[in-house]
Amino acid sequence: MERQCRTCLFSSIEKEQIQKNIEEYINSLSPDEKAGERLYKERLKLCSECPDCFDGLCRICGCFVHARAAKIRSYCPGSAKRW
Ligand code: SF4
Repeated sequence: MERQCRTCLFSSIEKEQIQKNIEEYINSLSPDEKAGERLYKERLKLCSECPDCFDGLCRICGCFVHARAAKIRSYCPGSAKRW
């Protein structure tokens, strides 16, 4: 039987849980709070090209970019104001 590194196992569970929590958070937003699908995707594209985006986190504010981009009133906190 193949042994698994506990740290790796924990990281993968943690990532799945984080992803699930982000999805739940986004789904909990009311239509008034939520960015439209097109805007959301545009924001995420800009985040994906940003040097301050690391593993889905914004290094400037510490937010998960998917959660931040999902709110209509959010903005990019970086000095370049990408969105
Ligand atoms: S600085 Fe702006 S573009 Fe860059 S990861 Fe943060 S929110 Fe996204």
